[in-house]
Amino acid sequence: MAVPFAKTSKMRKNKRRTHFKLEVPGMVKCDHCGELKLAHHVCGVCGTYKSRDIVKQG
Ligand SMILES: [Zn+2]
Repeated sequence: MAVPFAKTSKMRKNKRRTHFKLEVPGMVKCDHCGELKLAHHVCGVCGTYKSRDIVKQG
């Protein structure tokens, strides 16, 4: 089994983990209601996509 040649320092470990992201990327504001929604997805609040009604309301 391979053994690390040198101990990974805290700085090196933390620098590697700068690529870890908490938030989900690709969140945009809805054209219709202004709520945050996933890009290229139908808005979950008002049910529109590209300012067209996709989800039937009422
Ligand atoms: Zn919306």
